[in-house]
Amino acid sequence: MMPTLFISHGPPAIALMENPTAVFLRALGDRLPRPKAVVCASAHWEAWRPLVSAGAAPVTIHDFGGPPALFNLRYPAPGSPALAAEILTLLAKNGIAGAAAPDRGLDHGAWIPLMMAFPDAGIPVVQVSVQTETDAAWHYRFGEALAPLREKDILVMGSGGAVHNLDEIGGYPLDAPPPDYVSRFDEWLAAAATGGEVEVLLDYRKHAPKPDRCHPYPAEHFLPFFVAMGAGAGAGARRIHQGFMYGTLSMAAYLWGEA
Ligand code: ZN
Repeated sequence: MMPTLFISHGPPAIALMENPTAVFLRALGDRLPRPKAVVCASAHWEAWRPLVSAGAAPVTIHDFGGPPALFNLRYPAPGSPALAAEILTLLAKNGIAGAAAPDRGLDHGAWIPLMMAFPDAGIPVVQVSVQTETDAAWHYRFGEALAPLREKDILVMGSGGAVHNLDEIGGYPLDAPPPDYVSRFDEWLAAAATGGEVEVLLDYRKHAPKPDRCHPYPAEHFLPFFVAMGAGAGAGARRIHQGFMYGTLSMAAYLWGEA
């Protein structure tokens, strides 16, 4: 059965970097079973209801500022209208009303890490939105609805950030060590995720240290974590990468299931 994955994608310029997280992402494709398709819940697609990218040839969306070299990059992975339809059916079976988005491309939360992990762009990718008007528990149930895809060798992947505080990023160099509140949250998350403490994680705003400082409202970079955890049935995760960028970004990655 295909494992499920949460990665912290960091800044778009990571595509041009050689730092430890970039090295991790470039090696990721080799350590996973090659999926037949990828379903990616990205922090960079927010909607009030679940939307599912449904085009056969999604365009590369350059939804960021940055060096011109980034704008020359394309990730021409195909979409999969059939998989999009299957996702909508799975959601409906679980009482979740979603909608197809035929014209949606791939945002940088999806295509940059996938380009690094699977540079041949040969694996179909379908994106699903995050619903910032809902909460962690809602996204966990959303992930649970997608779990049957794992038996078809489809990779359910959340792409966000384990700690993501852009409000306080100013002044930290790229390789700055994390401030205390960031490392405390990061270690709390690792302990709860590896321990499979689903209820504690779903109520993280009550249990985690400085939750709203590590994930300022609407916590869009944390919600994909819960999609991946739900698809992984909440079993204990493995932290497969640990790192920080600009002090206030944890680049941690987690895997549920065997790989
Ligand atoms: Zn992001």
